[in-house]
Amino acid sequence: MSEKKRTSLERYHLKQKIRELTNKESFNQSTSLVTLYIPPGTMLSDITALLRDELGTATNIKDKSTGKAVSDALRSILSRMQYLKNGENGLAIFAGITADAQKVEYFAIDDPPGKVGIKTYVCDVMFHTEHLEQMLAQEDQLGIIVIDRGGASFATIQGSSLNMLMERKSNVPGKHSKGGQSAGRIERGIELLAKEYFGRMARVANGLYLEDHPIKALVVGGPAMSKDDFLQHPFLDYRLKEKIYKVYDIGYTGIVGIRELLEKAENDLNDYSMVKERNLFQKFLEEIGIDSGKAIYGEAAIKKALEMGAVETLLFSEGIERVHGRIKCANCNKEFLESSTEADFPALQSKVSRFACPKCKQETLSVISKEYLIDEFERMSIESGATLEVISTGHEDGMILLKTFTGIAALLRFPVNW
Ligand SMILES: [Zn+2]
Repeated sequence: MSEKKRTSLERYHLKQKIRELTNKESFNQSTSLVTLYIPPGTMLSDITALLRDELGTATNIKDKSTGKAVSDALRSILSRMQYLKNGENGLAIFAGITADAQKVEYFAIDDPPGKVGIKTYVCDVMFHTEHLEQMLAQEDQLGIIVIDRGGASFATIQGSSLNMLMERKSNVPGKHSKGGQSAGRIERGIELLAKEYFGRMARVANGLYLEDHPIKALVVGGPAMSKDDFLQHPFLDYRLKEKIYKVYDIGYTGIVGIRELLEKAENDLNDYSMVKERNLFQKFLEEIGIDSGKAIYGEAAIKKALEMGAVETLLFSEGIERVHGRIKCANCNKEFLESSTEADFPALQSKVSRFACPKCKQETLSVISKEYLIDEFERMSIESGATLEVISTGHEDGMILLKTFTGIAALLRFPVNW
């Protein structure tokens, strides 16, 4: 459905990169960080001309240090223009002197998750990443409707989270015919109410999926008759009808109905990360349940299994915020890793100078780099031929992985005896 599929790991890295960019600030709160969005099809020579113009203007900026910082940022982009290619989704470029680096940093996203709409050039105290965040949010958005005569539920799957948008009960009475003279008239009344109700639900769907939560595709589930009455209703917008990817016979509405639909649809929807993640996690639970020895969890056990080449698929929760600080002693050069959460990392950096080196006992330690736990597992997975899947915490299975199974689990090729 989308032109190019990112793996869950690539998507995770892109998210991480965007988050890092979002957190950056200019070196002295000056409006000198350059954000540049280039739509697909734009001639890069036009962009070069724009940047040269801006470079000319930068010399007029009153505050000299800001003017110089803007010029430096522009030059760092200009020096790379000849190597850039404008791809099918356009380009997003960020450059400027940041507070953490105290020198010019340059970042280019040459494969944005969606098409860049308008050319944008901004100088500000921060990088403008909202546009990229929006693209990530809309990528792969799938609409879900389950409907019967009793009610309808509307939801989306966005990346890998299920979002319930709306639930509506109907006012259509059940069809329990009592017979007698008026039975036919009552029956016709009920049919009119039903038709009116399906029309209202069609309007709700139009508003939700064409305006409020634009989707790439739509799946619909319900009992045979009901969902056909809904799908054939003239109020359902033709643009939404065109997005219908598949229709399923299911017996319920509400969250139960949505679960039933996702189960039935799992093979068709394997492209959607949530469905894929759910399948992997269910397989993991199954193997745990039958005690096959082919499912394990926890950092230490999985590292061992990776070293033995036993891991087929590694499930890594995006909720794991553990990082490692690489610490080095300036006196004796000893290096070691210290585990920390992302949030506590700045505290680790400041307190480590007061610790004695485990080797030479001098207070000469400092943090020389930050490593994410996932980077370590990614390296080991590549070496061991395992597939690493990042599992979102936006759905129930993802939360169970994080809370009950430490956030790291693996499916093995063969059982491993310790
Ligand atoms: Zn030392």
